[in-house]
Amino acid sequence: MSGVALLAATVVALGAAGAPADGGAPSAGGAAAPAAGGPATSTAAAAPRPPIVKRLIPYGAKRKRDMAGYSKRHYGAYKWRLGAPKLIVEHYAVAGSISAIYNTFAPNRPDVEYGELPGVCSHFAVGADGTIAKFVRTDVRCRHVVGLNHVAIGIEHVGFSDGDVLTRPAQLQASLALTDWLRCRFGIPVKGVIGHNESLGSPFYRELDPRFRGRTHGDFRPAAMRAYRGELRTRAACG
Ligand SMILES: [Zn+2]
Repeated sequence: MSGVALLAATVVALGAAGAPADGGAPSAGGAAAPAAGGPATSTAAAAPRPPIVKRLIPYGAKRKRDMAGYSKRHYGAYKWRLGAPKLIVEHYAVAGSISAIYNTFAPNRPDVEYGELPGVCSHFAVGADGTIAKFVRTDVRCRHVVGLNHVAIGIEHVGFSDGDVLTRPAQLQASLALTDWLRCRFGIPVKGVIGHNESLGSPFYRELDPRFRGRTHGDFRPAAMRAYRGELRTRAACG
């Protein structure tokens, strides 16, 4: 898509901004990184943190227990923390605004498809105008993709089709910037960025409950994700 190179250049120029504001910085706890002889010249640029609006959904002790129970039933271990994410899963919400998505995720109620707790959620949402909202910390699991919630960060998009997202430059560029920033933070390769619809083909897929096994959703199909990953490769963040 046109405009990507321009945007990538803009993003790189903004680089080296301060540490991420939401914890998990590898250098936390001292040992400030020594200035190692000036800027690197040959490695791919680390992606800077894009502007993110914090809009955290309620995720208290009860929801954490529900998430841990879900993890026990579906992945085999009672755990609500997301340790080292291996994947970023892209979704579109079939919703017209970030507020609509927030309102769906905020209540901790059984999901409409399986009737299980905790309530579904994603970590981020990207609006049609490129606004990025953060709903859940990246070190906490969210229910957004059967078989992969133990290893995946979820990004929702305002819109009703993957074509909506791919054809709205502001939204697409914000989505790519967010995804690149997360990739760089967690060492996730481009192939680790998948669409919800690609979930069953992931090597990380794990589902112990036969009722859930083999189930996925239609959002962000392989053709759309090939285009999306192609854009990520053009940006060349983190190799
Ligand atoms: Zn989805």
